[in-house]
Amino acid sequence: MSKLVVVGTVAFDAIETPFGKTDKILGGAATFIGLSASHFNTEVGLVSVVGGDFPQEYLDMLSNRGMNIEGIEIVKDGKTFFWSGKYHNDMNTRDTLATELNVLADFNPVVPESFKDAEVVMLGNLHPAVQIGVIEQTPAAKLIILDTMNFWMDSALDMLHEVIAKVDVITINDEEARQLSGEYSLVAAARKIHTMGPKYVVIKKGEHGALLFHEEQIFFAPALPLEEVFDPTGAGDTFAGGFAGFLASSEDYSFDNMKRAIIYGSNFASFCVEKFGTERMQTITPEEINTRLEQFKALTKFEINA
Ligand code: AMP
Repeated sequence: MSKLVVVGTVAFDAIETPFGKTDKILGGAATFIGLSASHFNTEVGLVSVVGGDFPQEYLDMLSNRGMNIEGIEIVKDGKTFFWSGKYHNDMNTRDTLATELNVLADFNPVVPESFKDAEVVMLGNLHPAVQIGVIEQTPAAKLIILDTMNFWMDSALDMLHEVIAKVDVITINDEEARQLSGEYSLVAAARKIHTMGPKYVVIKKGEHGALLFHEEQIFFAPALPLEEVFDPTGAGDTFAGGFAGFLASSEDYSFDNMKRAIIYGSNFASFCVEKFGTERMQTITPEEINTRLEQFKALTKFEINA
């Protein structure tokens, strides 16, 4: 079986949306990525750090869902990374209210021995220095995927550029693509980001879908139109997890297969937003996944004479 290394935050989140508010609940980029990637036929190894305040039951849930958590360091006298955000009425934009790095501030990632030969590496959102540390420990990687956000563009841009130069795929949201490239048009932004390193650029547009750019080719996948959206937190990470998990399990990293990966990513993201935090991600069944894949097909299929 192929192996997928996932690095990212395992966190506490406090979220406010027009539909409600939560206290500290389970969140973090690696958590959401792992919860979607673990649906595929690939071994998922999480690399992250938490504090002594992190409940054992959350760790148990991750390993019960098939993830290898050997690479999650527990700093007994430290506090877990904490993020808090408030969504606007459109549910597509949000303000970050707090980002407390805590144990993430001095984190040196250690990829477990059994995952050093992983074929696919998913660099989830966290400090670019940590992402570089993981690249250095996975020399056999055939595909390296990077996700990041404006926080790291604002606080560690030079190092982020170093990571971007080393990866095959970058997944990024539209506003961040504009910030990184200085271009308003997403086509122009993708072209510029290509020149920074990645051969494939995925631009996530929230409820408006996702674009995949490779050389002169472009593919677009919509997001599934949903009746109820409660909390978009983690949708981008969940998307990245489905994308990476599918590619790792199929061991085919071609443009055509990436199109399928984008659909899988969008499919998992459609579940993520239906409940607060990771709640919905913990209950998805294979039947539900297939039903929604059919909906994606129906949504985008048409005939036309051209
Ligand atoms: P998303 O909605 O996909 O952008 O991801 C939200 C998740 O990312 C939350 O669960 C947060 O814990 C985590 N997160 C927020 N800010 C950061 C950051 N600066 N670095 C790493 N992870 C973060």
